[in-house]
Amino acid sequence: VSVPSRPRIVLVGAGHAHLHLARHAAAFTGLGADLTLVTPGPFWYSGLATGVLAGMYDAGLDRVDPAPLLLPAAGRARLDRVTGLDRSARRLRLASGASLEYDLLSFNVGSEIAGVPIQEGLQRVFPVKPIENLVRLRRDLDRSLQRNGGRPTLRVVVVGGGATGCETAACIAALARRRGGEARVTLLTRGERLLAGHPQAAARGLAGCLRRRGVEILLSRPVVRVTQGVVLAGPGDRLPWDLLVLATGLRPPGWLQGLDLPLGPRGGLLVDATLRSAGDDRIYGAGDCIDLEGRDLPRLGVYGVRAAPILQRNLLARLRGGPAISYRPQRRALIVLNLGDGTGLALRGRLHWRGRLSLWLKDWIDRRFLARLRGGAPGAPIRTAP
Ligand SMILES: Cc1cc2nc3c(=O)[nH]c(=O)nc-3n(C[C@H](O)[C@H](O)[C@H](O)COP(=O)(O)OP(=O)(O)OC[C@H]3O[C@@H](n4cnc5c(N)ncnc54)[C@H](O)[C@@H]3O)c2cc1C
Repeated sequence: VSVPSRPRIVLVGAGHAHLHLARHAAAFTGLGADLTLVTPGPFWYSGLATGVLAGMYDAGLDRVDPAPLLLPAAGRARLDRVTGLDRSARRLRLASGASLEYDLLSFNVGSEIAGVPIQEGLQRVFPVKPIENLVRLRRDLDRSLQRNGGRPTLRVVVVGGGATGCETAACIAALARRRGGEARVTLLTRGERLLAGHPQAAARGLAGCLRRRGVEILLSRPVVRVTQGVVLAGPGDRLPWDLLVLATGLRPPGWLQGLDLPLGPRGGLLVDATLRSAGDDRIYGAGDCIDLEGRDLPRLGVYGVRAAPILQRNLLARLRGGPAISYRPQRRALIVLNLGDGTGLALRGRLHWRGRLSLWLKDWIDRRFLARLRGGAPGAPIRTAP
């Protein structure tokens, strides 16, 4: 496929990989390309978001605006959301009603929360994706916890016993403690234990730690129905809630199904090892929204980060000629759960470590990542409020 002399490259979504490309926009515009990033808003970083929820960081620390990254290289950020694609005309449809033409296109649009049978229009429900929901949740908690001195205890139900659900429950309990408010946090999962896929011993230790901090854990309770204020779960439980948090796993956005592109078995845009769509060689993808042929990658930010330089190389190779290179994902990834009380739980394969050192490491990795993105220094070290 030929690429014109002033090729239009459109990046959809300000995810981890596209932010890397935005930082290196000059590599594209220097070759005469026109580079546009379509994003409905700033990037919110999941790594520090639970720390924001726990009251350890200000929300501003967690947000990156892509426009200033693109501007020096004459790249553009366009505040909009992609809603459709006409591949024969090489045109994207946008939520604003406008359209945008491309010669090369890349998707890095993240993921959404896997479905829970939930009625439309319920108030105070917070799926943990998009990440800015955690910032809204923190605001709601701050208000409610301030108000509830001496008043009925705030009932928070977190659905999902994976890393995200456990981390969120721990951080909500930590925020309540910091604010001196009363919250009863219940962690509900259909699984027989927490942290499926991670070592048993880590899950046991974490369950003990959550319980000691007042979090109630209900196992083997699939959610049957949710109505305003009540979750019906498992074999007949009725759980009242004031705030409901959904952390039931990540899956590629459902709207990808309408793009007329091949999807993988887990609903992501199917790409080959060069990150190119299996159905259209002008289209690429990275991060949570892809299914990499022959691989079953966890939906973790770090995979998008590692794929970014390969995506950059391969898009540049399309402009100036040359071979594409392959993305070889790491076999294991380190994840660290922020437990909100100054400690973290680090998990990597069979290894796990809970304590202050784990959180220190997470804080260092995450602030260094954000500082690099913004092109500055990591800034002040972790601030753990009392
Ligand atoms: C609470 C929580 C904590 C987590 N902690 C970690 C962690 O510590 N380490 C880790 O590796 N992973 C973590 N994850 C997983 C991580 O958040 C995801 O894997 C990661 O965000 C995926 O990155 P991405 O680059 O694919 O997309 P994202 O970072 O999600 O970015 C996608 C972007 O696309 C934009 N977008 C979406 N739809 C459209 C559209 N139609 N048009 C234009 N733009 C669009 C969105 O606004 C967003 O900015 C966590 C997840 C959660 C929920």
